Amino acid sequence: MMKRVRDLLLSYISDAQHLLHKQRTFKVSEVPVLFREPSVLTGYREMNKPLAYYLLSTFQLHNETLNIWTHLVAFILVIIKLYSAYYALDEYEEYQPVVLGFGICCMFYTSLSTLAHMLQTKSDFMHYTVYHLDFAVIMSWFGCFCSCFAKLKYRRPYPFTRKLWNICSFGTQIVCVFSLVILRYVDCYRDSECTLASLNHHTRVVSLVLLSMFFFCSFIPEKFYPGKFDILGMSHQLFHFTIAVATLEQFDTAIEDIVGHTHNLVSHKPKASYIYASIISYAVLATITVLMLTPRVYKRIEADRVFEEKRK
Ligand SMILES: [Zn+2]
Repeated sequence: MMKRVRDLLLSYISDAQHLLHKQRTFKVSEVPVLFREPSVLTGYREMNKPLAYYLLSTFQLHNETLNIWTHLVAFILVIIKLYSAYYALDEYEEYQPVVLGFGICCMFYTSLSTLAHMLQTKSDFMHYTVYHLDFAVIMSWFGCFCSCFAKLKYRRPYPFTRKLWNICSFGTQIVCVFSLVILRYVDCYRDSECTLASLNHHTRVVSLVLLSMFFFCSFIPEKFYPGKFDILGMSHQLFHFTIAVATLEQFDTAIEDIVGHTHNLVSHKPKASYIYASIISYAVLATITVLMLTPRVYKRIEADRVFEEKRK
């Protein structure tokens, strides 16, 4: 028995060492159209390898390495920030579930994004599935639907209409979240004793989110220098970085608002049960939506296969 366990362990260690050897990467012309990124010419990973290959590729250099690490580090920082923010609100315990709910959503989006970039090259099916899950954490059903629809409908090189679907997707979330903040600016503008500087914490978050959307949609800088930012500095990495900083900044913004402004609220105290019920309902709805898209994913994979055959 001991010998079998030891042999098994040794074989796992030898497999892991083999997988940790420098993994080969490919040029854009060597990978199917589905996996190509605009203006990214090199650093593509191999398809159809074992799951361990993609997990261990986190420690290899390729064109997804920094996309993985930017959100993996963000995931860890979110946990640390959530912990400190939750305990910073000890005296405002009825608001702690607000921060906890926000933190849980942020942990979902950073971890699923990390997973998507880690596994997306494994196969066609994995590519569509992990990206649909990644879109689900946009945290608005309409936003998730728009992104999934665009992913299944268009093929690279994407037409401008695909960008419109994405703008629609993120736009709805930005409108939902920031419409409340805009009211704060309007109130402050009308109040002679309020200065816009008092809303600097919100201004920082709004600016960072808009900057992240700019990188997401523009494909700058690689658009102007194709192949120069394949490993470091591409727009998607900058998008990940700015959205992660915005997320961490939002914890401080929430604390500042709760400590500084909640004394003005006589009613409308948050109800923990409503917050958790909303998160669970959304998670169920998003999962059902992703599952319902599975037959469409198979259809699209077949269409991709025919397309690749014709291309050869
Ligand atoms: Zn991403």
